[in-house]
Amino acid sequence: MTELKKPEPLKGVKGMNDLLPAEAARWEWLEGVFRRLLASYGYRNMRAPIVEPTALFVRGIGEVTDIVEKEMYTFTDRLNGDELALRPEFTAGLLRAVIEHNALYDGPMRIWSMGPVFRHERPQKGRYRQFHQLDVEALGFHGPDVDAEIILMTRALLRQLGLQEGSDIQLELNSLGQPAERAAHRQALIAHLQQHEALLDEDARRRLHTNPLRVLDTKNPAMQACVDAAPKLMDFLGSESRAHLDGVCAVLDAAGLAYRINPRLVRGLDYYNLTVFEWVTPHLGSQATVCGGGRYDDLIAQLGGKPAPGIGFGLGIERLLLLLEALGKLPPAPAVDAYAVLPDGAPLAAVLPLLEQVRATGLSVQMHAGGGSMKSQFKRAGASGARWALVFGADELARGELALKNLQEGSQQPLPLAELPAWAAAEAAR
Ligand code: ATP
Ligand code: MG
Repeated sequence: MTELKKPEPLKGVKGMNDLLPAEAARWEWLEGVFRRLLASYGYRNMRAPIVEPTALFVRGIGEVTDIVEKEMYTFTDRLNGDELALRPEFTAGLLRAVIEHNALYDGPMRIWSMGPVFRHERPQKGRYRQFHQLDVEALGFHGPDVDAEIILMTRALLRQLGLQEGSDIQLELNSLGQPAERAAHRQALIAHLQQHEALLDEDARRRLHTNPLRVLDTKNPAMQACVDAAPKLMDFLGSESRAHLDGVCAVLDAAGLAYRINPRLVRGLDYYNLTVFEWVTPHLGSQATVCGGGRYDDLIAQLGGKPAPGIGFGLGIERLLLLLEALGKLPPAPAVDAYAVLPDGAPLAAVLPLLEQVRATGLSVQMHAGGGSMKSQFKRAGASGARWALVFGADELARGELALKNLQEGSQQPLPLAELPAWAAAEAAR
């Protein structure tokens, strides 16, 4: 007889993470905080497909960007030859949908979305190939009021999670001005970079003429001095752009939100103008940006829509959770309220309907299934984190009772079965 060989288990895709229940619980908690906060500012959820035509991202994000040049997962639809891509960010897809459904016809929109995005990067802590974003967009508003609102909303969110601005996380702000201002700056920048061409790395040389602003975004330490001395876009802003930035800053100042103006903040996508911002942390190494966004007043028109301004941000959920973990700000794991202990031979037909009644009051109950000694059942009850064990022992049931054990205090008391739903309701309301 031939020996059966145990098959090698298949592994998941590199850089794409599984979330086992303990970790998924943290995600659910965080998502709940997001949902409540966004609702309190009048933002509404919207969902678009994960797959879009590749051309949408090329047009939306820009040809000479890290994302489009080297990070995007693209494929040809085997069945009809369409060129498709897994979304590397949310904005382009959401705007595509808004334009396609003429959704701005009824006036401006405040929307948010959440889910996976895909970028082929070198996986490391805080940098994955499938990661998740909370994405928020305000469409049809010229600002600066909405710019300030969005930034204050990100602060409220971070505060609600227990993060302290200034020490745990810091706001950086810049203005990218308008296209004409950027063009004048671009000329001066190219001239400066050409003067120091010997110092530039390969990426920078390639971008010198295609996207010199992105050279400023370099993480190469050897180029820092050259980049620090480069002409600043801020010095090329006209009075309107300046006033827009001042308008945002005035609100942030009045709200007591300290920020750092960072003239080197250009963001990795091409479509931004005027306000750009990032929340950065010193606690996550070079994966420092937890949340970043900005204004994109030309993007809707560029994607074929009726011209309308927009502003938005993306927040990296994995990075935010890493930061909360590093600072010990994650809440304790959620637990069921009660664990039902059922000794072997317990009358299931009597007990299970009772547990249904208990759950209907709002109290959560996890039932021990599969039998086992009382000792092992109590061990499971303890591990479940439940506050109460509902013990349906034969002796108790014979008296029309159950035993109610407080697992935190170790105390135990009998409770008539008929009183269980009322007890549960009171407990659930506590
Ligand atoms: P970085 O400079 O770190 O590459 P980015 O500018 O490419 O970030 P954005 O395109 O602004 O990032 O995306 C918004 C947020 O998504 C980032 O601020 C970050 O928190 C998160 N993020 C970006 N890329 C990754 C990744 N590969 N893995 C995990 N989170 C990411
Ligand atoms: Mg990136």
